[in-house]
Amino acid sequence: MDTKTIIETAEEKLIHTYNRYQIVLDKGDGVRLYDTDGKEYLDFGAGIAVFALGYNNKEYNDAVKAQVDKLIHTSNYFYNEPAVKAAQAVTKASGMDRVFFTNSGTEAVEGAIKLAKKYAYLKDGSTDHEIIAMEHSFHGRSMGALAVTGNRHYQEAFGPMIPGIKFAKYNDLESVKSLVNDKTCAIIFETVQGEGGVYPAKKEFIEGVRKLCDEKGILLILDEIQCGMGRTGSMFAYQQYGVKPDIVTVAKALGCGVPIGAFLAKENVAKALVPGDHGTTYGGNPLACAASAKVFELFEKLNVLENVQKVGAYMAKKLEQIVQDYDIVIEHRGVGLIQGIELSLNPKDVISNALDNGLILFSAGTNVIRFVPPLVITEKDVDEMIVKLRKALDETRS
Ligand SMILES: *Cc1c(COP(=O)(O)O)cnc(C)c1O
Repeated sequence: MDTKTIIETAEEKLIHTYNRYQIVLDKGDGVRLYDTDGKEYLDFGAGIAVFALGYNNKEYNDAVKAQVDKLIHTSNYFYNEPAVKAAQAVTKASGMDRVFFTNSGTEAVEGAIKLAKKYAYLKDGSTDHEIIAMEHSFHGRSMGALAVTGNRHYQEAFGPMIPGIKFAKYNDLESVKSLVNDKTCAIIFETVQGEGGVYPAKKEFIEGVRKLCDEKGILLILDEIQCGMGRTGSMFAYQQYGVKPDIVTVAKALGCGVPIGAFLAKENVAKALVPGDHGTTYGGNPLACAASAKVFELFEKLNVLENVQKVGAYMAKKLEQIVQDYDIVIEHRGVGLIQGIELSLNPKDVISNALDNGLILFSAGTNVIRFVPPLVITEKDVDEMIVKLRKALDETRS
């Protein structure tokens, strides 16, 4: 199919849930993507914080191909070795005891909510427990995850939401405290809010919520679907705060492109779920788990965390300079390789100018440009990005 036919047919046949750029992506290599006309793009979006290892990593591709030829899918009524290897890797990296594999982020959040409810039910036998979530949060599009997503626009047409969800102000401990009562079973938030506009949790906030949870017997659920898997410079963002959640959700870079998510929990919490409580047909299948196990192996081999710390600090410095140099850029936020700049205007023109210049960027919140590149980028890639970004900003200003 030629490019025009692909776009026209997509607009005819796909349910129109996205306003897509008029670009058909065809292949990738390293931190670069190529469209069907052969145009090259430097990728600072990584398929929304997914492709941490960069495209066309030979060892990763070989591992996936080998598993395709061996066994793609079984069922969860049997064991398979890739799932066990992935489980060992993700529990070790997160410091959690047990994992349940899903196919996506939103399913990981569904599982986390169900686990928290079952845990509370076993404690007091009641079925009207409440969860506290945050304003401007994002946890996914399925009904449970949507119910804890603090964005009225996403929820509005789809009511009623599951009951018992209250919204506090992110990074405001008093606002959380004011919503706690005897029915509260869990508090859920992103360690770094991604879609909401790249807001890292403040240390006092996350420590305060942990303490509150310990005092009241409430479970702390951290959603690290976007900010986990090395993105902040540690395997999980909470590790930099010295705080441990009771349940953590993971997805996006967990499989680096092969769909897989997970929720993990401490032993005393995990054991609340027993056979019959939860399940999945695809989740934890050998193909996705072989990919994920290889991702953990390559993270170590390629010193990904060290690279994120080094290149992340470099990118932060360069973006701070952009704040100095451009009136329309008012703030820089973020940590590791999840960073953002807030503009005084809607960033869509800047992002589309950047695309014309061969740079892929995503927005977040209302006025934020988000930088979530593959975790293997170099300082040289950052330099190239900054040149293209400055050009896009210059073109927007004039
Ligand atoms: C992307 C994201 C989700 C949803 O993941 P899907 O795989 O799209 O369902 C949930 N929480 C956070 C923090 C995310 O960034």
